[in-house]
Amino acid sequence: MPDPTDASPDRRPIAAIVGGGPAGLIAAEVLADVGWSVTVHDHMASVGRKLLLAGRGGLNITHSEPLDHLLDHYGTARPRLEAAVRAWDATALRAWCAGLGEPTFVGSSGRVFPSSFRATPLLRAWLARLTASGVTIATRHRFVGFGPSEHSIVVDTPDGRITSEVDAVVLALGGASWPRVGSDGGWVDALLGAGVVVAPMRPANCGLLVPWRDEFIGRHEGVPVKDVELTVDGVAVRGDVVITAAGIEGGPVYALAAAVRDGIEAGGSSTLTFDLRPDRSVEQLADRIARARPGDSTSTVLRRGLGLSPVAAALVRELGGRHLPTDPASLAALVKALPCTVVATMPIDRAISSAGGIALDEIDEGFMLRRLPGVFVAGEMIDWEAPTGGYLLQASFSTGVAAARGAIAWWREAAASGDGRTYERSGRDG
Ligand SMILES: Cc1cc2nc3c(=O)[nH]c(=O)nc-3n(C[C@H](O)[C@H](O)[C@H](O)COP(=O)(O)OP(=O)(O)OC[C@H]3O[C@@H](n4cnc5c(N)ncnc54)[C@H](O)[C@@H]3O)c2cc1C
Repeated sequence: MPDPTDASPDRRPIAAIVGGGPAGLIAAEVLADVGWSVTVHDHMASVGRKLLLAGRGGLNITHSEPLDHLLDHYGTARPRLEAAVRAWDATALRAWCAGLGEPTFVGSSGRVFPSSFRATPLLRAWLARLTASGVTIATRHRFVGFGPSEHSIVVDTPDGRITSEVDAVVLALGGASWPRVGSDGGWVDALLGAGVVVAPMRPANCGLLVPWRDEFIGRHEGVPVKDVELTVDGVAVRGDVVITAAGIEGGPVYALAAAVRDGIEAGGSSTLTFDLRPDRSVEQLADRIARARPGDSTSTVLRRGLGLSPVAAALVRELGGRHLPTDPASLAALVKALPCTVVATMPIDRAISSAGGIALDEIDEGFMLRRLPGVFVAGEMIDWEAPTGGYLLQASFSTGVAAARGAIAWWREAAASGDGRTYERSGRDG
């Protein structure tokens, strides 16, 4: 049976993928698998650098929870991402990893990791497979904008500027965090210039700035405050929080960073609370404080009486005000809801991901830009955000697959209606 996606038996359709991260590379794979001629352009000297960076701390590639729960992590963007994530879900992603020789395992929190825990073996095997299937990887090729005709792109290469006219373009240029691995958000002006609405890029999953006193940070920088519960706007997240020179980092911090960021944007600062003994009630803690020996210092009460670690006890002193309450109920209440004023998020270049990007309304069901027919978009450059937990990579992969499938369907429809597409005309400009 002929392949229904092979619209023209006379030639292979040609795709330019711009951005060699997970979204772009998986789009390249899907298109190459149905016979398209594919070139991936990336401005760095090698592709997949952010994926490799993500792999340094253990590559959390997706999450094992039921799909409906997983989708909830995309918040308001869920309705626009749902079909793509359902069509290429965590099961598909895990099978794909296994096909590259990297079977996955589920960690204790339900997060999914490749067996090596890292990204390097996965990316190496993937690039070998892409090359074997005819995908060309063109590095040091920087996308600078669109050419004069539909779906043509202008790219700066070491040999000069070229205009590449192709049948379909997939843009997968990433967000704006960690620019040194390639995702610098430099594409925003080109899209705005083409009339595409792009929401401002903002830090997500980032640390929070807290102005520590020198004495506190001198003793506790880098120390984790174990098993605490952070709360912002009624949302509580439990885990370890690391004290850094500039503020706080760690899983619960990243999970609440978007709410804190939005609070700061609305009001100038945001207050979160630490529950330093989440398994104990205020009454239980007050009872223990009341049983302290007369003459015990507050530090002794906090550490011996309540079992707080040195850093947690110091945090009570740092954030609890100059004069800590001495009556048991008030001190217990403070330990259960220690207020911490955050003045800013960490800068976007140190954030794990970014919010903002191409507005969801600009994209049709096939991930094609409504204003630029033949130009498809995928990955973190689209305006969605999600917490850490594998949700970022899952959506990057799923939208990459969706954009490629969208391009295939669009090409087939255009060819069937006799709307001929152009051959690649790649030539040096000027
Ligand atoms: C420290 C860290 C840890 C992370 N850990 C995890 C994790 O464990 N789990 C998880 O789900 N997510 C994690 N992430 C997030 C995840 O890596 C990203 O969400 C994901 O890589 C986004 O994929 P993408 O393909 O959309 O973009 P990217 O991976 O950013 O790729 C974009 C590509 O486009 C290229 N590019 C950009 N501009 C141009 C241009 N003008 N011309 C040509 N090429 C260009 C870049 O060089 C890059 O190769 C982590 C991120 C960081 C920073």
